[in-house]
Amino acid sequence: MSVVTTALVVAVDGPSGSGKSSVSRAAAAALRVAFLDTGAMYRAVTWAALEAGVDLSDAAAVAAHVRTVPLVVGTDPQAPTVAAVVDGTEVDLTEAVRTDRVTANVSAVAAVQAVRQDLVLRQRTLIEAACVDPEPGREPGIVAEGRDITTVVAPDAEVRILLTADESVRLARRARQDLGSADTDALEATRRGVVERDRVDSRTTAFTTAADGVVTVDSTALDFEGTVAAVLEVVEGQARAGRTGGPA
Ligand code: C5P
Repeated sequence: MSVVTTALVVAVDGPSGSGKSSVSRAAAAALRVAFLDTGAMYRAVTWAALEAGVDLSDAAAVAAHVRTVPLVVGTDPQAPTVAAVVDGTEVDLTEAVRTDRVTANVSAVAAVQAVRQDLVLRQRTLIEAACVDPEPGREPGIVAEGRDITTVVAPDAEVRILLTADESVRLARRARQDLGSADTDALEATRRGVVERDRVDSRTTAFTTAADGVVTVDSTALDFEGTVAAVLEVVEGQARAGRTGGPA
């Protein structure tokens, strides 16, 4: 008798400030599967390129450098981590990738197609590992979030979600999260990191409209718990539909 285990892959895309990272983490924890923050990987290689003094306007140089940087990605939804191996030493970058300097430069690095091809392959390897060989205590599967997971990295995922929210709501959430306030100054200071980054990123990846078969979850009127519940509801419905071959 053979035992068939079905791994659950949940792909979540969305713009900056949509809450996709924290919501995806909570969903992964609830589902007892791994969590992959692909944005942290783009941020980590951006950190490495900046650290090495690579000219970010030189796409070939950026791609060549990124290829030499091994990443170590921890996929525990309770405590996700990202590290890079620099000169043979593993450097934890979990905090460093959130600095303004990295945020201001990551879109330029993510726009280099050869960097994307490189990271997409690494992301698929991480997704496969979580499905085939889950960490002890976890079910086989993963919630992976980013900008191109539903369309490029895992277009065959059992569940594909686009998490959106109105721009003003995303801006206020990010301002509160980063600056502890959503007053006029905080909103203005946050605008560049949200609106401008989305504008530049949308030239590279299609994360503003749902591709065919991708379910949109709009969190504009939902709080955090409500958004997690909405995502889990889609997972439940889509996964059941996928397994029975019919509608949920
Ligand atoms: O999600 P986060 O804001 O951390 O992503 C940082 C950046 O990484 C994005 O602004 C985008 O440039 C890039 N990114 C990407 N594709 C992904 C995830 C992130 O291009 N799948």
